[in-house]
Amino acid sequence: MDKFDILKKYFGYSEFREGQENLIDGILAGRDVLGIMPTGAGKSICYQVPALLMPGITLVVSPLISLMKDQVQALNQAGVHAAYINSSLSESQISKALRLAAAGQYKIIYVAPERLETYDFLTFARQSDISMLTVDEAHCISQWGQDFRPSYLKIVQFIRQLGKRPVISAFTATATETVKEDIICVLGLQEPEVLVTGFDRKNLYFAVETPKKKDNYVINYCKEHAAESGIIYCATRKNVDALYEKLCAERISVTRYHAGLTGEERRQNQEDFIFDTRPVMVATNAFGMGIDKSNVRYVIHYNMPQSLENYYQEAGRAGRDGGKAECLLLYSAQDVMINRFLLDSKEQNAEYTQEELEALRERDEERLKTMTYYCMTSHCLREYILHYFGEKGSVRCGNCLNCIREYEEVDVTETAGHIISCIREVRQRYGINVIAGMLAGDDRAKLREYGMFSYQSYGILKPMREIEIKQIINQMLVEGLLFVTSDKYSILKITEKADDIIKNDRRIIFKKPKEEPKVEKDVSGRKTAAKTRRSDILNSRGLELFERLRDLRTNIAKEENMPPYIIFADKTLVDMCVRVPLDKKEMLKVTGVGENKFNRYGERFLDCILEYTGGVREKFYFGEG
Ligand code: ADP
Ligand code: ZN
Repeated sequence: MDKFDILKKYFGYSEFREGQENLIDGILAGRDVLGIMPTGAGKSICYQVPALLMPGITLVVSPLISLMKDQVQALNQAGVHAAYINSSLSESQISKALRLAAAGQYKIIYVAPERLETYDFLTFARQSDISMLTVDEAHCISQWGQDFRPSYLKIVQFIRQLGKRPVISAFTATATETVKEDIICVLGLQEPEVLVTGFDRKNLYFAVETPKKKDNYVINYCKEHAAESGIIYCATRKNVDALYEKLCAERISVTRYHAGLTGEERRQNQEDFIFDTRPVMVATNAFGMGIDKSNVRYVIHYNMPQSLENYYQEAGRAGRDGGKAECLLLYSAQDVMINRFLLDSKEQNAEYTQEELEALRERDEERLKTMTYYCMTSHCLREYILHYFGEKGSVRCGNCLNCIREYEEVDVTETAGHIISCIREVRQRYGINVIAGMLAGDDRAKLREYGMFSYQSYGILKPMREIEIKQIINQMLVEGLLFVTSDKYSILKITEKADDIIKNDRRIIFKKPKEEPKVEKDVSGRKTAAKTRRSDILNSRGLELFERLRDLRTNIAKEENMPPYIIFADKTLVDMCVRVPLDKKEMLKVTGVGENKFNRYGERFLDCILEYTGGVREKFYFGEG
């Protein structure tokens, strides 16, 4: 068997994705490797395929207990002998697992880093043939990263204590240049094959919306996407509870998660979500670490998160199966205030000096700013994200709201000029609210108190409304004509770029979104091109078959006490509707159907398809040919 046979037989795929082959070849040639690939890129395959081709055992160090269980379940489903050893098992279960492992029962063993230094585990490892040691979430070893875990340093001592040094493979989704160097250095990777694939997730659609009533927006969205699984992130527990109640009242099958619930509630709710018993989850950012649910079709942020790092990580939980998915952010100006409040009330680590605390605070403000500009920009959203993470995207991705939305070009040179003079007149000492209020000639007590009424700029933009002025100020911020200081006062200041434009008498043109995006829906009410989803690939007959296959999957999941997506991914079910397999040979061509999965479930899915089609192949999708 070679790597292709393994990929098909156990995982049901016929091709490798970008980067996978390089890493697998590297490992099989006996080299250390480091793979930096975004969530959903398929890192697991990179070590699981070679693990099955190497003579000995592969140990996988992973920090997330729930993820281990998921991975091991999925591997066992695929017919691979695997086990995990961590603190969720009792002492006697651990001894049993180690006994079986020593007897050569498992090809792949997942283990928590703390376990590595225990006497029993070390004894087992020293007596066994360990072909590879895989370090998942490898960035945890770097003290420069956000998620440094001291227990990861144990990996290094562990390797030293093994009789023979195994191949070392390390994987992570997030690594700056410093963290990357750190991983290589601390883990002691020897001339590793390093592979960095782009951070772009092509199957994700990005949009920022500013609905007047966020609740209604979410309710409609959930109804329009009934039976699809999604996560809705809110900034606070209070928001989670309120939205949860509203969705329940609309009979949407929803559950919730935040740190204020009891452990038992959290466990139950998480399970309801994972098993698709309640496919919609409303949660704070406490939810998601270690959740590997691959069929999440949308992630909605009810509030803007604190940083683009957080946003991309949370939004990235959509579409891990590679199928189309949507990432929506519902922005309102209040979100900035909520976040500033959350930053202010953040617990402060007593080990930091005052100076360090200020530096951290400034960094947080800077991140919040980047996030806020994401919500305001009229450029391609994907390009904005990739640029921030140091990558070059295309100028227009064609798969985000800003790329498909229609804009009006408005000349705002004169207004912008007044804004700049106003900021100058008050000697760059005030924030956006004061400036906008002043230009609009607002009669607020605060403005009076500051003595604003006596300035020339006061009321000069009347009858423009304050909100319109703010929009233009926002655009000027995004374009770098103005900036806001990164302290807690958020003072509005003028940049050199603005001076330059004024001096050279250049026009300032802004793109103003027209109300409706270009291609929202066609006559049948179906979303068009840029936003295609499964419901757009399949015609109504195909959708019906899809629903039946999904019901069957739900039943099997219940029987086996297994999350549905571990039985088959959504993408696999769609591919069944596209190919309409009528026998075993055809079924094995479906993506995600390997031999072992076929032996377990193939016949039941074939029966379902035969029953629906009567053995006559119809076209169930809007494809060519
Ligand atoms: P990561 O760990 O990088 O976030 P996973 O290993 O969980 O990603 O893989 C994400 C999804 O992609 C899984 O459903 C996996 O089965 C699927 N996948 C991985 N490799 C391939 C491939 N070569 N062809 C099709 N699907 C794949
Ligand atoms: Zn775009």
